Amino acid sequence: MATVPLTFAGMKLNALHKIADSLENTPKMPVLFLGHGSPMNAIEENEFVQGFRKISSEIEKPKAIVVVSAHWETQGTRVTAMAHPPTIHDFGGFPKALYEIEYPAPGSPELARATQDLVHSTEVHLDDKWGLDHGAWSVIRHMYPDADIPVIQLSLDYRKSPQEHYALAQELSQLREKGILVVGSGNIVHNLRMIHWGKMNENFGFDWANEANNKMKELILNGDHQQLINYSKLGSAFTLAIPTPEHYLPLLYALGLHDKKDEINIFNDEPIGGSLTMTSVKIG
Ligand code: ZN
Repeated sequence: MATVPLTFAGMKLNALHKIADSLENTPKMPVLFLGHGSPMNAIEENEFVQGFRKISSEIEKPKAIVVVSAHWETQGTRVTAMAHPPTIHDFGGFPKALYEIEYPAPGSPELARATQDLVHSTEVHLDDKWGLDHGAWSVIRHMYPDADIPVIQLSLDYRKSPQEHYALAQELSQLREKGILVVGSGNIVHNLRMIHWGKMNENFGFDWANEANNKMKELILNGDHQQLINYSKLGSAFTLAIPTPEHYLPLLYALGLHDKKDEINIFNDEPIGGSLTMTSVKIG
């Protein structure tokens, strides 16, 4: 990746040559939405982590990764800009082994500034406090175990509407042509209050969970993004599947980067514990 001189940081944006333009062009990268499920997927061997590994083997090695994780909600939009993002263990009550995991991928202050530069609908703030939360590292470590690819995170501004999140994602489209892999990490069906804990290790979904999951897949495959943006109008199965938006919104970031020519590949399409689905999407 081209390095942006630090002197750029202090200059007014309108005086800048576009930072993203200065990055080298590459064949168009795909975009991913990954269902991350339980943090235990970070250390377990199962069909889902095998799915993450398989999908990474089908993708050209990215120059860097931008993750939009369900687990980083902020007031305003932020992008991690530190050179060495810490591994954040943002969960409670799990085995010690999970807290011992470190994912020491470098950050990319240059990509953070390029991302900031691409977005015009809102101000993107450079962040030096966050790092990599488990929405990012629990899946990325299976895809790129060497931790040799820079990873940055883009936060979810909890004040934005689904339409605004989708529009913000569209502003990032140039990244796909710069060797950057954009990953949304959440779960399209995610209702923890209704989890059937006895069936957490089974591919079991309540009827409403399967109904919402199937309808979402249909809309994704048909490119009907407007209905997916207006999910709150899709009935009771969706109300149960998306009780809060944070695990669903990362899907809209992936869809916002969908190009009409892109192939769509759905994988890890299984329910677990009744009220969660691991359904993941590769676009392009
Ligand atoms: Zn989660």
